[in-house]
Amino acid sequence: MKLCKTVAELRTEVALAKVAGRSIGLVPTMGALHEGHGSLIAAARKENELVIVSVFVNPTQFGPGEDLDAYPRTLEADCLLAEQMGADIVFAPTPKEMYPSEDMTWVEVTGDITKVLCGHSRPIHFCGVTTVVSKLFNLAQPDWAYFGQKDAQQVQVIKRMVKDLFFNVQLRIMPIVREADGLAKSSRNTYLSPEERKAGLVLSRSLRQAEALFQQGERDGAELVEVVREMIAAEPLSEIDYVEIYALPDLTPLAGKIAGPCLLAVAVRFGTTRLIDNIILEGA
Ligand code: AMP
Repeated sequence: MKLCKTVAELRTEVALAKVAGRSIGLVPTMGALHEGHGSLIAAARKENELVIVSVFVNPTQFGPGEDLDAYPRTLEADCLLAEQMGADIVFAPTPKEMYPSEDMTWVEVTGDITKVLCGHSRPIHFCGVTTVVSKLFNLAQPDWAYFGQKDAQQVQVIKRMVKDLFFNVQLRIMPIVREADGLAKSSRNTYLSPEERKAGLVLSRSLRQAEALFQQGERDGAELVEVVREMIAAEPLSEIDYVEIYALPDLTPLAGKIAGPCLLAVAVRFGTTRLIDNIILEGA
């Protein structure tokens, strides 16, 4: 496996692959890789001849006071895991390499899709995400790019960006990988104290409860939100950022009962750590 730290190095590898007619799979990450990322890399390995994993803690998607400086940076371990899962290249640029100048071009998806949920509490977040993912798409020129359902809103935003900007890439969305007890795997889980870690289980537990009610026929979105909200609020260490439900794919408010696919998503703080989780309800 090869580690590329510069745009020039990556470009050379991509050019060689293109000349040889090899298909390219890209897995964008911020590193501190775990099995969630691993599932994306493994899927990319199955479907492509060249697998590129980017490891870049993207500064433009962090707001003031967020955890940019504290975010775990574990490049050596990341390279090992990426290689084990079948990556050919890890692209780990410096911020200066990705953002050479302070005057820069932004790629922004506008509308409610970036304003609700995480876009509400993290106003610049998705603009940073779409900007860096555009840069990565242009550099890696992937046939396939892999994202996790863990970041459900990011998935919808990137789908929209790809459609609007005619990016020549197919997206593969992989299911949420969880710990055995249900906690969604996240690079940020390492911030949690043992008590917070335990309290965090309420997210998957409450979403499972909502899913069970949905399967039993409950189609009132507000009722499902209330069930989840009450369960989370009953956990003393939790501080709710949001518990909301939106219609897919555009994250529009539900008009009446659930009649099509929708996203039930939560963001909750445990101490200083903000965790997210979600389920998709395939309404019929
Ligand atoms: P991150 O490094 O947190 O930016 O995540 C990089 C990619 O891995 C994103 O597409 C995430 O949605 C995905 N990912 C992160 N955690 C998980 C998980 N637990 N299961 C599946 N995919 C995940």
